[in-house]
Amino acid sequence: MKVAFIGLGNMGLPMALNLLKAGYSVTGFDLVQSQVDVFSAAGGRAEESAASAVGDVDIVISMLPASRHVEGLYLGSDGILANASPTALLVDCSTISPKVAKDVSHAANARGFAMIDAPVSGGTAGAQAATLTFMVGGNVKDFERARPLLEKMGRNIFHAGGNGSGQTVKVCNNMLLGIQMLGTSEALRLGIANGMDPKVLSDIMTKSSGQNWALELYNPCPNVMENVPSSKNYAGGFGVDLMLKDLGLAVENARDLSASTPLGDLAHHLYELHSNAGNGTLDFSSVFNLTKVN
Ligand code: NAD
Repeated sequence: MKVAFIGLGNMGLPMALNLLKAGYSVTGFDLVQSQVDVFSAAGGRAEESAASAVGDVDIVISMLPASRHVEGLYLGSDGILANASPTALLVDCSTISPKVAKDVSHAANARGFAMIDAPVSGGTAGAQAATLTFMVGGNVKDFERARPLLEKMGRNIFHAGGNGSGQTVKVCNNMLLGIQMLGTSEALRLGIANGMDPKVLSDIMTKSSGQNWALELYNPCPNVMENVPSSKNYAGGFGVDLMLKDLGLAVENARDLSASTPLGDLAHHLYELHSNAGNGTLDFSSVFNLTKVN
């Protein structure tokens, strides 16, 4: 089985390395040479362009920043649809708009390609440890065809529904995560303003009805937990600007469907304020500092 991997960034590179470790023959391409060099050193076959990387493979995987990059890569004249073998299965793992995912997969189907959207959750640590969660949109036959490969990069592989539904789940999940982190920060700040020790407060709320993932596993208050970004000056982890991008997808998706997401809208606004204040590259749990009581 030959695989092409396009987009060897923070997520794509460790995912591609896990495929190499599993014994797949992987051809790769990225615009950043230093990323390609690490891929080559690990046994990957580097190509000069996406077009040449996808010419002769069974599965193409892409892991790009945003919707516009995915549209460009698949639909452009030197892109994947123009250059891959029509028997190849196309798997886009980027987090993009559900609408763009549907549009690109329809264009792929019209050219005879099978395509699924397969965004991930689990961050760079999950990408390195091959413990990602995949949420897949597309038909069941294509999902089953991709599954053995996805299992080499992830631990939980879900079929969500038709094309675009992987992205819908990802957008809903990350909107909830962004809101949850703000709510958790606000509650901790209120307790601290009352003179509470944030660790005692967190321990009690973790065993009470306010329990949630941000509080229990990714506490935003410095030094409540070890080995989380808040205890390392908010370095590493999942950046504010990536959360802002995902909340932007949620807001745009809700607008397209006339759905009501007032908390998602507010969260988008608050992360934007936080990013504009110069915090875009910090971990998203740094919104704890936005909720500071002076
Ligand atoms: P990244 O910016 O580190 O990597 C993206 C890579 O794509 C870059 O190396 C860039 O050079 C490359 N690229 C862009 N256009 C290209 C093109 N036309 N051809 C070839 N390469 C191209 O981003 P990342 O952190 O790896 O995230 C990738 C996707 O995964 C995003 O959609 C992100 O939202 C999603 N995601 C990220 C995380 C995370 O924790 N970083 C977690 C879950 C999902």
